[in-house]
Amino acid sequence: MARRSRKVDVGPERKIFCNRTLNLRSIKAVGYDMDYTLIHYHVEKWERRSFVHMKRKLASQGWPVDELRFDPKAVQRGLIIDLELGNILKANQFGYVKHASHGSRMLDFDTLKQTYAETVVDLAGPRFVFLNTLFSLSEASMYSQLVDLLDADKTPQRLGYSDLYREVKMVLDAAHVEGRLKAEIVAHPERFVELDPEIPKALLDQKRAGKKLLLITNSEWSYTLAMMAYAFDRYLPKGMIWRDLFDLVIVAARKPEFFLGEQPFFEIANEEGLLAPVVGQPKPGSIFHGGHAGAVESMFDLRGSQILYVGDHAYGDVHVSKNIRRWRTALVVRELEEEIGAEERFSMEHIQLIALMNKKIAAERELSQLRLRIQNKKQGLAPAQELNLRALENKLRKARSGLLVLDEQLAPLAQASGSLGNERWGMLMASGNDMSYFARQVLRHADIYTSRVSNLLHETPFAFFRAHRSLMPHERSLT
Ligand SMILES: [Mg+2]
Repeated sequence: MARRSRKVDVGPERKIFCNRTLNLRSIKAVGYDMDYTLIHYHVEKWERRSFVHMKRKLASQGWPVDELRFDPKAVQRGLIIDLELGNILKANQFGYVKHASHGSRMLDFDTLKQTYAETVVDLAGPRFVFLNTLFSLSEASMYSQLVDLLDADKTPQRLGYSDLYREVKMVLDAAHVEGRLKAEIVAHPERFVELDPEIPKALLDQKRAGKKLLLITNSEWSYTLAMMAYAFDRYLPKGMIWRDLFDLVIVAARKPEFFLGEQPFFEIANEEGLLAPVVGQPKPGSIFHGGHAGAVESMFDLRGSQILYVGDHAYGDVHVSKNIRRWRTALVVRELEEEIGAEERFSMEHIQLIALMNKKIAAERELSQLRLRIQNKKQGLAPAQELNLRALENKLRKARSGLLVLDEQLAPLAQASGSLGNERWGMLMASGNDMSYFARQVLRHADIYTSRVSNLLHETPFAFFRAHRSLMPHERSLT
C-alpha cells in the first residue's frame, strides 16, 4: 500500500522544530489559518501584483510612482519599520538594531551606530511596525521607495515619515478591499497558488485519528471557497470535498480580535455567502462569518491546551492565541527551507569561520595580556623576570599584525555568512552571531515551527515533539 511506502526520512529543511514539548496525542482539535498556511502563494508573484495595485492607486492620487519597482530582495519578513525616522531595521533578539536602511539605501556602520546605539526596539509603542507575514513585503518595499521620494521633495503633499506609512497602509487596504487582487487570483489560481498534495493528506490523517479540524481564516467566504476548492478537492478521496474535512469553518475571523474579544457569529447560509444570524449557541458543522475563540472552546468542550492552532502570522496567529487563550501553537515559516539549504551549502566555510574566530579570540586575549604587561613594566610593577620594554613592544607589534592577517582571512567569510538568506539582511532567524528579533518571537510564542503544513504528514498525528533544553552561555562552555 502507498501508505506503507511513505517516505519518513525528510531533509532537515522539512523537519518540525520544537520550542516547547508537544504531544499531538493530547491535542483534540487542530485549527488552521488559510493564507500562507494551508494555501501557499508564489510570494514574488503575489507581492508584485500587490505592488502594482498600490502603484496604480498612488498614481491616481498624483504620486510620481511610475519608476517604482517591487524588489523582493530589498526586504524580508521580520524586519521592523521605524516610523519616526523612515527607516527599515533588522534587530537582534534583544531589540538592538544591527542593520538599517533609509529609503533604498543601507545605513553605513557609523551612521547606524550614531542613530541607534541607545535605541531598543519595543513593539508595544507606536514607533515601530513589525513585518509579520509574507504579505508585508510589498508594503515595506513601497514604503522605502516612497521615503526616497519624500526626501527628494517629490510627494504631492508634505508628510512626516509616519504619515507616509499611513498613506501606504490606506492604499494597501484599498487594494485589498476593492478585491482586485483577490479577484485576479480567483480567476487564475494556477498563477499564484503553489499546490501541495501532501497538505490535504496530512489533514485527512488527523481527521481519521479523531481530531476535530477547524479552519479559521481572516479571508472572506467567496475567496476561501475558491482557494480551498482549488487547492484541496483534487487531492481528496473520491466524493469528498474540502468542507468534509473540517468540523468548523470560520471566515472573516478578524484575528487577532478573534482571540481577544467576543465578536458575534453569523452563519453563512448559502454558497453565495448570504449571512444569517445565529439563533442560540453556534454549533459545530456550520460555516461561520466572525465569532470568537472562547465560543469555539465551548462548542467542542475543550480547554485551550487541547487545541493546536497552526498559522503563519507571528502575532495574529501564534502570539495572541498562546498568550490570551493558551492554545498550543505552530508557526509556518516557509523561508526555513531556503535558509537551511543555504546554511548546509555553507557548512564547510562555516567550520573554517569558527576555527578562525577561535584563533582571533585567542589572539585578542594575548594582545590584552601584552598590553597589561607593558603597562606594569612602565609603572614599575612588573615581576623581576619580565622581558624588557622593547622586547615586549616587539611582541605586541607581532601580535597586532597577526590579528590583522586573521581579520583579512575572516572578512570574506564573515561577509558571505552575513549575506546568507538575503544579501542585505542576512538570515530571517539570525542577526549576525545572534538570534534575530523574529527568531525570538518564534521561540517565545510558537510551541513548534516548520516550513509547511505537509511536514506534519511525515510526523503522523501521534507524534511527540520534545524540546531540547536551551543552554545558558556558561552551560554551553561545558559542552
Ligand atoms: Mg495567514
